[in-house]
Amino acid sequence: MGRMEHPASRRVQGDNLSYFLEDPGTGTLYRRGQLLGKGAFGRCYKFTDASTGKIYAIKIVPQSRISRLESRGKVEREIELHRHLSHRHVVGFHRHFADRDNIYMILEYCSHKSLAHVLKARKTLTEPEVRYYLRQIIAGLRYLHQQGIIHRDLKLSNFFLTKNMQVKIGDLGLATRDEQAGRRRGVVCGTPNYLAPEVIAKKGHSFQSDIWALGCILYTALTGCSPFEITDKQEMYQCIREGRYPTPTHLSPGARKLIGRLLAPSPSERPSLEEVLEDEFFTQGFTPDKLPSRACHSVPIFAL
Ligand code: ADP
Repeated sequence: MGRMEHPASRRVQGDNLSYFLEDPGTGTLYRRGQLLGKGAFGRCYKFTDASTGKIYAIKIVPQSRISRLESRGKVEREIELHRHLSHRHVVGFHRHFADRDNIYMILEYCSHKSLAHVLKARKTLTEPEVRYYLRQIIAGLRYLHQQGIIHRDLKLSNFFLTKNMQVKIGDLGLATRDEQAGRRRGVVCGTPNYLAPEVIAKKGHSFQSDIWALGCILYTALTGCSPFEITDKQEMYQCIREGRYPTPTHLSPGARKLIGRLLAPSPSERPSLEEVLEDEFFTQGFTPDKLPSRACHSVPIFAL
């Protein structure tokens, strides 16, 4: 690290990526760091702007992986939607460019990975923490919905955490504009994690389907298990259609009630995002202003 080499002078065998990356539009030089993770189409690496020292997460999609028109379209749509967004609870999209080998998306770096990583280490989260995370997720989601965007794949692994434990909604790979969702009715595009009853019934994914996913997320964060675990796919679909899931008896009545409201089989019966924030789960319970990063791996102690 830190050695100055000519751009593209050092290629790592196998992935054909150079140690330096130059943005042809701005001339900015980025130095490659560790691999952050692999995605559906490419990889995400930590990169440092060589002149400012600012760190980014750069998503790199090889052109060879999106040779099919359909997958190219998906990546292009993700860029088209994400590049215009700017909100404190949505992963920042800095720039994008392409060369013969890859497409590059320069994103805000979230050093504490995702809420899926947190839940894996913690098994379950406390209600104050869940309120803390959900308030931020709802703020980001309100912004997306106001922009006419349905995320369609809300899940813990798409909620990224910055070094200050701020939540950022990311991965707009399955997101769509509302009017497109209408035209594409019936098409389940990709495989969202939490399928809403109307999505299974091929009636299309609406804003209210994102609300359903919030119910699944709340349940999963508090119990450590998904409300609709896959045993037999048809049986799971039946449970989803009926909104039938194991009652989490050890949760507070407030949490159980909110889960029930969010997981209403009929989309029109689910609360709006504003109504979720007015639910007694939020209004009656304590929400911390900040979370320490040790909450990623152990139960935080709140000074009330
Ligand atoms: P996919 O969209 O297929 O889920 P991504 O390419 O978006 O995958 O992300 C792959 C992995 O890279 C993620 O699981 C995550 O661990 C990491 N990652 C993605 N975006 C960021 C980011 N902004 N900051 C830090 N890590 C990230």
